[in-house]
Amino acid sequence: MTRSTRALLAIGFVPSLMLVTLVLVPVFALLAPLLVALLGRGNPVVAAQVGALSALILVPAIGALVLRLLFQLERARARLAVLATQDSLTGVHNRRYFFEIAEREWARCKRYGEDAALLLVDADNFKAINDVYGHLCGDKLLVAIAKAVRASLRQPDLMARFGGEELVILLPHTDPLGALDVAERIRERVAGGRLDWNGEKVGTTVSVGVAAYGGDDRTLDALVHDADLALYAAKKAGRNCVRAAPIKPRRSGEIRRETSR
Ligand code: GH3
Ligand code: MG
Ligand code: MG
Repeated sequence: MTRSTRALLAIGFVPSLMLVTLVLVPVFALLAPLLVALLGRGNPVVAAQVGALSALILVPAIGALVLRLLFQLERARARLAVLATQDSLTGVHNRRYFFEIAEREWARCKRYGEDAALLLVDADNFKAINDVYGHLCGDKLLVAIAKAVRASLRQPDLMARFGGEELVILLPHTDPLGALDVAERIRERVAGGRLDWNGEKVGTTVSVGVAAYGGDDRTLDALVHDADLALYAAKKAGRNCVRAAPIKPRRSGEIRRETSR
């Protein structure tokens, strides 16, 4: 997109049309007398009048048509960008977008030996919620859980729907204790929440798997795998709890920068 197109989109449709008209009408109005002068035939005054009149009619009409198409295209592009990055039910990022951003963040953490952590949050006994209250209630509860989780995070933390009733979170600049703290905060907040559904209060809990990174050799996929094992351990321990994967030793020779939440 050129800079002038971006400027037109920024100022809005009506001001854009006025601007285009203001710039192009004199240009087109001058074309007719210029043509007369070049050909050496015809009356330049009449040509100027006809040119100005046609420019005054044609420029706003064609300008409005072209600008309308441009603004419609921009709206479609913005909508597509949202659809490509957002989960349609919960409104949080989708998995594809999460990993796109997380891989970049991960590369930065590895390069500078910074702390980070990955959390997998899975709603407990969610199948039973659907079975008892219906799928629509389950959907609303999922939205409420995503909101509660988001409210437990800081602005730079990255969160997405991992799939089904599961969320994934990347916590940059977070040491293992800080990550456990966040996980516990999420667990508590979800456990304390209730959804009003046909006069009933519906709620559930979450289990959280935590994998902390502190400058070791793991890939992001390996960290997800470790968080998944920890989540499995949390489910096995009875649900509504947090479990952490064992902390891996730091790469030798790595200088540790103190980072915490
Ligand atoms: P666990 O505590 O072991 O995680 O039990 P669970 O029932 O939550 O797990 P399970 O994997 O057996 O079932 C997941 C359930 O989550 C079943 C599935 O229908 C439901 N679910 C997944 N995605 C959605 C969704 O978008 N909306 C609704 N309403 N339910 C969903
Ligand atoms: Mg579940
Ligand atoms: Mg699950």
